[in-house]
Amino acid sequence: MSIYLDHHATTPVDPRVVEAMLPCFTETFGNATSRLHRHGWEAQRLVEAARRDVAALAGVPARALIFTGGATEANFLAIDGVTEAAPDTRRTMVTVATEHASVLEACRRAEARGLRTVMLPVDAEGRLSLDTLRRAVGPDTLLVSVMLAQNEVGVIQPLAEIARVAHDAGALVHTDAVQALGKMPVDLAALDVDLASFSAHKVYGPKGVGALYVRPGIERRLSPPMRGGGQERGLRGGTLNVPGIVGFGAACRIARAELEAEAPRVAALRDRLWHALEAQVPGVRCNGAAAPRLPGNLHVTFSETDGEALMQALSDISVSSGSACQTATPSHVLLAMGLSPAQAQASLRFGLGRGTTTDDIDRAAAHVAAVVAQVRRAARVA
Ligand code: PMP
Repeated sequence: MSIYLDHHATTPVDPRVVEAMLPCFTETFGNATSRLHRHGWEAQRLVEAARRDVAALAGVPARALIFTGGATEANFLAIDGVTEAAPDTRRTMVTVATEHASVLEACRRAEARGLRTVMLPVDAEGRLSLDTLRRAVGPDTLLVSVMLAQNEVGVIQPLAEIARVAHDAGALVHTDAVQALGKMPVDLAALDVDLASFSAHKVYGPKGVGALYVRPGIERRLSPPMRGGGQERGLRGGTLNVPGIVGFGAACRIARAELEAEAPRVAALRDRLWHALEAQVPGVRCNGAAAPRLPGNLHVTFSETDGEALMQALSDISVSSGSACQTATPSHVLLAMGLSPAQAQASLRFGLGRGTTTDDIDRAAAHVAAVVAQVRRAARVA
């Protein structure tokens, strides 16, 4: 079995989460919006308890969370919803070149509707500069969307300051907080954002469930793409996925209880991996090293190494060369940070998580060192 070091792509469902979900399939299977009987009330009670657990981890009031079918949908609901309802006076979206494909695509759709997108650059460390942001926002800015923690290089953006700049211009603020939730302390109320997206499968919960935080009072500035039976304050129609939501809640409850011990444990393993690679592989560099980063993220580039040959030769570990949502092309995130296409392809993202052990790290480092040496040797011979 290969060692799993791709926890940014997805995480295994924690067995305690599975245990919490199982009764929802056969016992508490009611429709959470059936108001006339016990089966409905019981499902609703579980959904509301889960809403409180997700909200507690994110630092937002429970009533402000809308459950969705994942973070792609949450990002779309936020951006498409706000741009669809845009007033004539605010027609510009401001976002960053290193955002997730789901944010960038939603912005493209807004452009097709006649809005303008300003795509901000990042520095070599992947950080957005506040001066760059200040120059870009103005009285016609509708929404500023900036990820809290980046899904490839793990870099954490200065979101509280970003929100202040956006709000000073009267714009709304959205953040994709998918990779941050459960991995670092997140207090979205203190960060003062208006909209935030989350996904259960990045925090040891099930796939296909997510949430959007909608600051109370701004619902009227959203025109939801998914309408139906009025569920989720009318912002996301459709019968609620009770087992998934219950699993999301359980996952957040566990993450909240364990975060304080788990984050430094994973960060120490990440540092161990970096030191082992640095010692064993000449010409390796860490991307985003000087910026605040997620504890479980290590992103490295190997000089003079063929990226494709490298990926093909790595057999003992599951790692990624970029976002799981975008494979064949060089990562737009690394290109935005100034790497060449060849460097971007000769890069690896290591995502450490709850199951990662010291032994995994030592074996992974030795395997990568051997594979890089082999790929470089083969290129010299050829
Ligand atoms: N945003 C980020 C930063 C992500 O990493 C992902 C998952 N790759 C998503 C959004 C999409 O989440 P989901 O898989 O729940 O649609």
